[in-house]
Amino acid sequence: ETTKAPNFIRNQVSDEIERGQVTQIVTRFPPEPNGFLHIGHAKSICLNFGLAEELGGDCHLRFDDTNPAKEEQAYIDAIKEDVAWLGFEWAGEVRFASSYFDQLYAWAQHLIREGKAYVDDLSPDEIREYRGTLTEPGRPSPHRERGVEENLELLERMRVGEFAEGEKVLRAKIDMASPNINLRDPILYRIRHASHHQTGDAWKIYPSYDFTHGQSDAIEGVTHSICTLEFEDHRPLYEWFLNNLPVPSKPRQIEFARLNLDYTLTSKRKLKLLVDEGIVDGWDDPRMPTISGMRRRGYTPASIRKFCEMIGVTRADGGLVDIAMLTHAIRSDLEDNAPRAMCVINPLKVVLTNVEQGFEEVYEVPGHPAREDMPVRRVPFTRELYIDRDDFMEDAPKKFFRLAPGKEVRLRNSYVIRCDEVIKDDAGVITELRCSVDFDTLGKNPEGRKVKGVIHWVSATHGVPMEVRLYNNLFMVEQPDRDKDADFLEHLNPESLVISQAIGEPSLADATPESRYQFERVGYFCADRHLSTPEKLVFNRTVGLKDSWAK
Ligand code: ATP
Ligand code: MG
Ligand code: MG
Repeated sequence: ETTKAPNFIRNQVSDEIERGQVTQIVTRFPPEPNGFLHIGHAKSICLNFGLAEELGGDCHLRFDDTNPAKEEQAYIDAIKEDVAWLGFEWAGEVRFASSYFDQLYAWAQHLIREGKAYVDDLSPDEIREYRGTLTEPGRPSPHRERGVEENLELLERMRVGEFAEGEKVLRAKIDMASPNINLRDPILYRIRHASHHQTGDAWKIYPSYDFTHGQSDAIEGVTHSICTLEFEDHRPLYEWFLNNLPVPSKPRQIEFARLNLDYTLTSKRKLKLLVDEGIVDGWDDPRMPTISGMRRRGYTPASIRKFCEMIGVTRADGGLVDIAMLTHAIRSDLEDNAPRAMCVINPLKVVLTNVEQGFEEVYEVPGHPAREDMPVRRVPFTRELYIDRDDFMEDAPKKFFRLAPGKEVRLRNSYVIRCDEVIKDDAGVITELRCSVDFDTLGKNPEGRKVKGVIHWVSATHGVPMEVRLYNNLFMVEQPDRDKDADFLEHLNPESLVISQAIGEPSLADATPESRYQFERVGYFCADRHLSTPEKLVFNRTVGLKDSWAK
């Protein structure tokens, strides 16, 4: 199986290294701490950290923290944890764009002195209106020709808080007629009377993304500043700042196509809405496509990294990626690495009438069919058992190879049993099956007949009760946010979480938070890292057994 898809940036950067155009690369992953990271960010993380790892360079973790109103320390902590959990190491300390605020301010003054920036008194609405459209050039602001001294003084007064929010901005003086709207005198600073999680109340003005990003890259000696395609039109501005400021280095911006996954939202803003509305149980709800949600669900770092390798990196927008590719990545990891266990999700009691009360035998069963390094499991067999309700049918069609009245089935790793009697309560609900064991079938076929079906089971005497959480897609449609004017919440799947009280084999009593298993015939499960305790086991279904990804 080939797992390395084309990655044009890797090819390009390796060529540059080969040709000696660059000796040591420096990349960065620059999240804004305004939410948790999602699977789309994982693509960017794997790309930036992966390049540094493979090509012998450094990757920085830099918080792009220029909008204090939306940012929080809790997000910073979660982002650091997620990156580290994925197995990446940032070079040096964590960095913050906010630690460059002094430098950025000095550079803003530099632009003013060069006649390349001015304080504007237009309101945000007026600025938008003056800026023109794609077909119509912009008009200069009446304040565009302010003198240097006045601009310097106004900027300083903005900085210390003498003006209200929205009263003034600092703009670069570039070209109001440029076909690229980003060059029509972009905003460099806005007034915000907000306290910042890193700089406290030191600043009443905050730099824009555009004025911050490239210069931060330059300060850190970033060689390749990799970002998603929506920043392509910002590249001339990115370069304009680097060319008009005395920056210590000249990073280069390269754009790639963002990841879009079907049935999944990859927008922090929309994911935050799910959290704020209480539709999910926090950012790391196992249904969330956040890295921490996927972790809780049972994804491994290796599976997420493998997925990112499989999707590759292109410049052209690749459309929607099939979520089956993501589940394939985790399924194949767990198939090789998760120990096996039997667990009955919807228990139905079976009494074996020809087994004596108190009878007990214990089977030693491999922890994994192909992994001798895994400990054997001890599986006890007793008179009373549980099987799954789905493995019994009262009026079974001919092709039903599980249990039915008068029919036989093999208990996995144990005997063949026959269903002799079906017990129901007053409402007609089946409460118990009475069955008999053919004791001549342990490890061998029964005499004179074929028994096709094998079902899993758990001893009722020794089984451990547990809560099992069965997750399905959070959304019922491929692209929940396709229609920009409609409410994506309309597409929520009412069955995205189904909770079941299950019974597992005794080996599961040892499950520690984040232990992963294959529940045989059922799927892959992971003990919840927050909720599962030895007293009350809670398992999350990571994925089912069936792989629907077609290469
Ligand atoms: P969102 O749109 O979800 O709010 P963002 O781009 O605003 O995400 P940032 O914190 O600014 O979030 O993103 C950090 C980095 O991750 C950026 O370089 C961004 O381009 C990248 N990134 C974000 N979403 C995706 C995605 N879906 N696919 C690939 N890279 C992404
Ligand atoms: Mg952003
Ligand atoms: Mg965004």
